[in-house]
Amino acid sequence: MIAETIAAALRQATDTREILIGQGVLGESAHVFRRNFGEATAALVADENTYRAAGEKARDVLLQAGVRLDATHVFPGSPRLYPEIERVEEVRRLLSSTQAIPFVVGSGTLNDIVKLAAHQVGRPYMVVATAASMDGYTSFAAAITHAGVKRVDACPAPRALVADVQVLADAPAELTSSGYGDLAGKVISGADWMIAAALGSDPIHRPAWDLIQPQLREWIAEPQRLAYGDRPALERLLGGLVMAGLAMQAARSSWPASGSEHLFSHLWEMEGLPHARREVSHGFKVALGAVASAAFHEMLLAMDFSALDVAARVRAWPTPHDLQAEVRRAFALAPLSDSAAEEALAKYDDPGRVGQHLTYIQKHWPEMRERLRAQLMPAAELARLLAKAGCPTTPEAVGLTRADLRRDYNRVRMLRRRYTALDLGFEAGIFPSLIDALFAPSGFWAQP
Ligand SMILES: [Zn+2]
Repeated sequence: MIAETIAAALRQATDTREILIGQGVLGESAHVFRRNFGEATAALVADENTYRAAGEKARDVLLQAGVRLDATHVFPGSPRLYPEIERVEEVRRLLSSTQAIPFVVGSGTLNDIVKLAAHQVGRPYMVVATAASMDGYTSFAAAITHAGVKRVDACPAPRALVADVQVLADAPAELTSSGYGDLAGKVISGADWMIAAALGSDPIHRPAWDLIQPQLREWIAEPQRLAYGDRPALERLLGGLVMAGLAMQAARSSWPASGSEHLFSHLWEMEGLPHARREVSHGFKVALGAVASAAFHEMLLAMDFSALDVAARVRAWPTPHDLQAEVRRAFALAPLSDSAAEEALAKYDDPGRVGQHLTYIQKHWPEMRERLRAQLMPAAELARLLAKAGCPTTPEAVGLTRADLRRDYNRVRMLRRRYTALDLGFEAGIFPSLIDALFAPSGFWAQP
C-alpha cells in the first residue's frame, strides 16, 4: 500500500528516483546503486553505530556485486555526531579526492552531513536508512549548524534510498518514537499552512499537500504497534516520513512538513536543553512542540473574532524598530538574537497588512474555524497518541519548566519568518491572554 503511494509520489519528485522499503532489502543495495549510478564507484560514510547496524553488510553487498569502494569513512560512535559544518567539510574533503558516489549509511545527522557535502562537490548520492527517526531522508535540504546557528541549506535529496525494515526494527526504540513525533507534527504544520495561505502569506502547494495530509491520520493511528516492533507499522511510519520528504521536494519548501511545532524544536535545538537528563532527539522536541501548538490552536479556535476592533489593533501595531528591540530582549544571547531579529524583521507586516489579515479573519473566521477543526485534533488527544509512541508530552520530560515553556511560546513566534497560528494570535492582540489561559490553574499547561 505504502509502496504504491511512494511510487506515485516519485513520479513528481525532482531529485529522488528510487525508494526501496521492505524486509531484507539491504541485500538489494548494490542493484539499487547500479540502477542509479551505473558503473560509478562508491564512497561509504557511516558512524560506528550505523556501520555495525547496516554499514558492514551494505559494504559486503556492494563488494560482492563488484561495486568498487574508493573510500570508507566511519565517524566515531561516541561522542554523538553533530550536524556541524566542520563534519560536512570532512566529508567534502574525502569526496574531493575521488569521483565516487557518496553512499551514506545512517539517519538524520549522517544523511544531512553527506547530503550537503555531496551537493558541494556536485554529485548525487544514495542513502541506506538505519532508523525511522525523522523525515529528512528525502527532503531537499540539510539542517547544519554553522558557528552555533542552525541553518537549513537547500541541497538535492538523495537519488536513491534503501530502508530495510529489519534494520529499522533493530534500531533503538527511541529513534522510532522520534520518527513518530516528527510525523504526527504534520497535523499542526497543515493547520498553520492553512492559516498562512488564507492570509496570503504562503499559498498551499496542492500536490505536496496531497502527498501527506490525506493519509496522515492513517499513518499515525496505531502508535502502540510501534512499541512492540510491528513490521508493517514500522514500514508505514518510514513510508510516511519519506512521503513528507518527497512533499518538501515537490513544493521546494519545508511548509508541507514544518509549522509552529517545528519552530519549538528549532529553538530548543539551537539553545540546547541544558537541564535534560540526556540528549533529546529532533522528533521528541517536535512532539512536545506539537502538543504546545495544538493547545494554542485549540484556544484560538475557541475565539470569536466578530467584535475584533481592527482599527485599534492597527493603531497599536509596533514599528519595526520596536519589534527588533523586543526580539533582542527575548533572546539574550548572540548569535541567536541576531538571527531572530533578522527573521522577525523579514516577517514584519506593516500596519496595512495587519489590517487586511484581521479584516479577513473577522469576516471568514466561522468557516475557517471549521476547516481548521477538521484538520487539527485536540491537544489532549494528540498528547495521548504521542505518549503511546513513547514521545515526551510535557516540558518536564525534556528538562524544561512550565515557566520555560511559557516564555518559549513568545520566543518561537519571533524565531523564523514562517507565519503561524502564533502570529495570528499576536496580530489579533490576544496572544498574551491566550498564553495566560494556557498556564492558568484550569489551563492545559496548569502546574501538575
Ligand atoms: Zn522534523
